[in-house]
Amino acid sequence: MPPVDPAELIRPNIMRIKPYRPGKPIEEVERELGVTDIVKLASNENPLGPSPLAVEAMEKAIRETRLYPDNDCFYLTRDLAEHLGVPPEQVVVGRGSDEILHNIGLAFIRPGDEVIVPDHVFTVYECTGELMDGALVTVPLKNYTYDLEAMAARCSERTKVVFVANPNNPTGTSVGGAAVERFLAALPGHTIAVFDEAYYEYVDDPDFPRSLGYLGGDKHVIVLRTFSKIYALAGLRVGYGITTPEIAALLQRVREPFNVTNVAQAAARASLRDPGQVERSRQVNAEGKAYLYREFERLGLPYAPSQTNFVLVDVKRDCVGVFRGLLKRGVIVRSGDVFDYPTHLRVTIGTPQENERLIAALEQCLA
Ligand code: PMP
Repeated sequence: MPPVDPAELIRPNIMRIKPYRPGKPIEEVERELGVTDIVKLASNENPLGPSPLAVEAMEKAIRETRLYPDNDCFYLTRDLAEHLGVPPEQVVVGRGSDEILHNIGLAFIRPGDEVIVPDHVFTVYECTGELMDGALVTVPLKNYTYDLEAMAARCSERTKVVFVANPNNPTGTSVGGAAVERFLAALPGHTIAVFDEAYYEYVDDPDFPRSLGYLGGDKHVIVLRTFSKIYALAGLRVGYGITTPEIAALLQRVREPFNVTNVAQAAARASLRDPGQVERSRQVNAEGKAYLYREFERLGLPYAPSQTNFVLVDVKRDCVGVFRGLLKRGVIVRSGDVFDYPTHLRVTIGTPQENERLIAALEQCLA
């Protein structure tokens, strides 16, 4: 008898998952186009790279890869707890914050549970919901920003998780403390609010919520942060969650053993000892953002005000053509069609030289 078609064996919800569409690697673009000195402003990476202390720690840790890593990230958890001013029992470390998002799904979402996500965003939330056979409820953004009031209003007795990227990807906008507090007040007791703060260290809005203050209140809250962005360790995959000791213990039950490599743990710990790297990165980012805003205004291109290291800009024509034109000129950005923004580009803020390359190429493409 011939084997059964795998398409008949698969859990049907898996077929609803929209595959992640990553950008092409730099080497591939160089090979295809026959160009060198590519500028990659596509994945919200820190152009300055990691702290020298992290590099030194990685070099040392590489010599120890014969051993399994510390399963519990004991020292990193303790360092993070001290850095954040919370007890270590409230910290969980993951293979990027993506792993923690996934583990939130594994631990909490039962088939049919509602998962509230905004539309036009980062696909990992949707994937997590679909993977667990949850019922996705999508709420539109309002003026490029999360509509927390509408999201709270959509909560029902079946709502298990609400995902809030703050600041948001790909729009770069953030929601303030007062809006978050009203949202939490309206949230049912059986619903978990996940505040994904991957770009936290770039935020300069004084009204940005102090989300750790919501832990241990009367609502379930998980805050996610990462070493991938300002700490420039995206290639190592290390992120963390901060929540109550009870939720942290449940998330620990579902994670894979040895989930974070020894190299990643060492680099993350060393990064926390170099606040200067964060400060420099914030500074270069703030200057780059001001430059891009000025140039977009000069070119008559509307943009969403950003609290992150990227800007969503409206090029006011089919973005795929502009994306390809930039690519031919050696500049990789993220084209908005992936997020259902057919006339937008998401551009990561680079070094001054990279930003200038972007603007020069963009001007040529628009001409
Ligand atoms: N959340 C948001 C909003 C992001 O933009 C990203 C990175 N693209 C992540 C989470 C994932 O970060 P990590 O590298 O820690 O998995």
